[in-house]
Amino acid sequence: MTILVLGGAGYIGSHTVYELIEAGEDVVIADNLETGHVEACHPKARFYKGDIRDKNFVDNLFDNEKIDSVIHFAANSLVGESVSNPLKYYDNNLYGTMVLLKSMVEHNVKKIVFSSTAATYGEPENIPILENDKTEPTNPYGETKLSMEKMFKWVSNAHGVRYVSLRYFNACGAHKSGLIGEDHNPETHLIPLILQVPNGQREKVAIFGDDYDTKDGTCIRDYIHVTDLAQAHILAVKYLNEGKESNIFNLGNGVGFSVKEVIEIARKVTGHPIPAIISPRRAGDPAKLVASSEKARKILGWNPEHAELEEIIASAWNWHKNHPKGFQK
Ligand code: UDP
Repeated sequence: MTILVLGGAGYIGSHTVYELIEAGEDVVIADNLETGHVEACHPKARFYKGDIRDKNFVDNLFDNEKIDSVIHFAANSLVGESVSNPLKYYDNNLYGTMVLLKSMVEHNVKKIVFSSTAATYGEPENIPILENDKTEPTNPYGETKLSMEKMFKWVSNAHGVRYVSLRYFNACGAHKSGLIGEDHNPETHLIPLILQVPNGQREKVAIFGDDYDTKDGTCIRDYIHVTDLAQAHILAVKYLNEGKESNIFNLGNGVGFSVKEVIEIARKVTGHPIPAIISPRRAGDPAKLVASSEKARKILGWNPEHAELEEIIASAWNWHKNHPKGFQK
């Protein structure tokens, strides 16, 4: 049976496809290549170019391939962009998922694992964050992901589509092969931006706000290796294959690093001074997001293998220094 990976040419999607292929699965990738890269697609996966908002395209995938379960990464995921262009997020993330679900129901495909986010929580009440903590997103990205989760809940009730929602904290790092890694255009994520400095592509990195209520005033995040995230998707598919009920899991390491600490570790890893300046806060950023992933460990049997931030940044650096222009030749 085949696993359909929507958004399988993107950062987390491509790393998940690599793990699925290594685990011996048959994989179909669909991606509109708006932010994904065809070069990131594993050569053993069958690739279809198209958009999940295009019902004919999605119907054809289910008509032509024997798809048993879906892993859904096809979404926009930038906090700042979602604040300035919310309708883009409602269109791609929410409407796109609605089209996908319609087609899944019509084709009797009943299992889906999808990307959710720590941004569903908003400004958390407790650290570490538990899955049943309050969800009040502070940006349209988190809002559309939370709405997706709710859509899955009701569709699950009505049509028996079982789902696993994985709420990622901060994905980073790159595949051990050095063949794939993070490549966004424009880049907005902290670790690749930091690494552009030792790569000679920028002079300094900007710290977005140093007046947060945190130990050093800069935002705290829970950084998790992309390969560990990929493994969680495989475990989630297995969980659904065992007939278990729909569920929501956080995926993080449970350890928070401030922006200043991340820069310091990158200095150590790269041996470069990496100058940094303080800039204004970025709209929609909560001060502190750190996961409790106890539930994923207990129920999915997930056990992140690359938990050290130094190792994660070293794997990212291995990709970026060898691919300064990303997938572009
Ligand atoms: N950040 C920063 N400078 C940058 C990019 C990001 O200080 O050039 C901060 C950002 O405000 C957040 C953290 O780094 O607190 C992680 O941001 P990123 O965009 O990587 O991930 P997000 O937390 O938005 O998913």
